[in-house]
Parts: sequence; structure tokens; C-alpha cells
Amino acid sequence: MSNNMNITYRLGERMYLNITNRCTNRCLFCIRNTVDDGLGVDLWLPQEPDAAEVIQAIQSAEGFPEFPEIVFCGYGEPLLRPDVVTEVARFLKERNLKVRLNTNGQANLIHGRNVVSEFAPYVEAVSISLNAQDADTYTELCRPIGGKDAYQAVLEFAVECQRVIPRVTLTIVDWPGIDAQLCRQKAQSLGADFRVRSLTGKFENR
Ligand code: SF4
Repeated sequence: MSNNMNITYRLGERMYLNITNRCTNRCLFCIRNTVDDGLGVDLWLPQEPDAAEVIQAIQSAEGFPEFPEIVFCGYGEPLLRPDVVTEVARFLKERNLKVRLNTNGQANLIHGRNVVSEFAPYVEAVSISLNAQDADTYTELCRPIGGKDAYQAVLEFAVECQRVIPRVTLTIVDWPGIDAQLCRQKAQSLGADFRVRSLTGKFENR
């Protein structure tokens, strides 16, 4: 069993879950590239926790279960581990807790199957990092391992989420080259909400 304390962390009233440090992007603005503390907590996992370990960490977290929302987040892309997300989200939903998933939206491309239908019954909200108005900009800024196919996959993932999940939000960060207005229009055309996220931490190249 992992004895790592950073599987869960708290920001404001919410609990956040950190289940992997891996990602299929290498975004220029990733918090993992910050030269200071980023969030101010060490989220590098010595090993990835399995679902039972995540659930144990949640149950032993101070304040549990009095959280308005529990969020799968990072350092890293939670849907690289869809089985863990689904099992943990089911545990939370059975206790009437609201679950949000923050994702880069590439899971269906990466896994070659529709993973949305697996976690959707247990998840109230999904926040998808759109981060660009077009595939070229996305590829340049996010450097996905899936190359230029990744952006279209993110849009299709958003459409799939929109069908089965109550709240879907597309997000961007404030970064040179990202056109907020065009991204907002793209979110609206998909019927999703839109939000500009604030960047956390200091970047060497900024
Ligand atoms: S998608 Fe998120 S975790 Fe992955 S590289 Fe980009 S900012 Fe970092």
C-alpha cells in the first residue's frame, strides 16, 4: 500500500484527487512546469494509488464527507486511469457526494473506446481543457502525443459528455496565442459552458 499523503488535497471547500502524474499532453503552461511550488503542495506521487488506496485516502481526509464537491484533477490526466476514476466516483456517488472530473478530453482517443459512458453515471460535472481555438494552436501549445488528431478528439469527447453529463465546461487559460473569444464561441456551439482558468505558479518562460 502507498503511504503517500498527497492523493487528496484541499483547496477552499473542495477536495481534490491526484491519481496520476502522467499526461498525454506537455502543455507549455502546465503546473508541472512551474519553477515555484505551483499549488504550494507536493503532488508528485511516488507510485500511482489503486482505487482502494484512493478511497482510503478520501475516507481518512480531514473534513470528509463534508465537501460540496470532490474533483479529480492532477498533476496529470485522471482519465489515463478510467477504471480508477469510475470505481472511486461510484463510491462517492453512493454517498451522495458531487463529483467533478477535470480532464484534457483525450481519453477516447487514447483508449480507443468510449470511456465517457463508464464514468458518466457517477459524475455530475466535467471540465475539459479546450485551450485553443484550432488544431494548430492546440498542437503547438499542448504538444499532445496524439498529434493533430488530438484537438478533434477533444471536441468529440466534449460532445459525448454533453449528451450524458449534467454540467460540461470547456476551459482555457490566459496564455499568448489562445483566442478567448473564438474559444468561447466554440464552447457555445457545442452547448457547453465556458471558463477562463487562472494559471497557478511561476513559469520560467513567462
Ligand atoms: S493537460 Fe493538464 S496536466 Fe496535462 S500537460 Fe496540459 S496542463 Fe499539464
